[in-house]
Parts: sequence; C-alpha cells; structure tokens
Amino acid sequence: MEKTATCSQCGQQFLLIAMELKFYKRMGYPEPVNCPKCRHKKRQEQRGWRDFHKRVCDQCGRRIITIYSPQSGDIVYCEKCFQDYCNHVDPLRGLKPPETKIKA
Ligand SMILES: [Zn+2]
Ligand SMILES: [Zn+2]
Repeated sequence: MEKTATCSQCGQQFLLIAMELKFYKRMGYPEPVNCPKCRHKKRQEQRGWRDFHKRVCDQCGRRIITIYSPQSGDIVYCEKCFQDYCNHVDPLRGLKPPETKIKA
C-alpha cells in the first residue's frame, strides 16, 4: 500500500512506500508532509549546515571554497595564508583580530 502525498513545502508529489508508512506508525511519528528533498534540506538547516561559497582569499587572491558567504563581510583566507597568519601570531599576546592583514 503505497501512498502519494503532496509536499507542503514545494508542492511536488512524492511517494510514501508501505515500509516507510509502517515505520512512522510504529514509531508514533506523523506521516511526513514534505518530499524527501525538502526533508533533507530541513534536516541540514537544523544542523546548522551552510552552503559553500566560491570566494577568493582576501590575502593572496587564490580561489577557495568557504562556508562564509560574500555578503557576510567576513575575511577569508586560503589554507596557506591561514597558516602564515597563525605563524605571525604571537601566542603570548594572544590572537590578533582576524581583520589584521598579514604583511608579507
Ligand atoms: Zn518538497
Ligand atoms: Zn591566500
């Protein structure tokens, strides 16, 4: 006994298979109202998952992938520049704010 339901999020029809329906019943969960795609998305959002953005290193201009969006205004460094940054920080004086640009 399969069942077709309409996703309340995107309006697309999705199939609920018997095994799934049984599972929800057994666990006392309500039947899902979202398609697997939207459920997956929701779960990722709840986990604090963020999209990856293609950006360039603020220090050397190398292309990098980061979780910080360009709109966030955060300074991003590639792996190498981040290493350089760490090497330039005096551990006794603590970390400099990340806005500090490294003088090569
Ligand atoms: Zn959906
Ligand atoms: Zn860099």
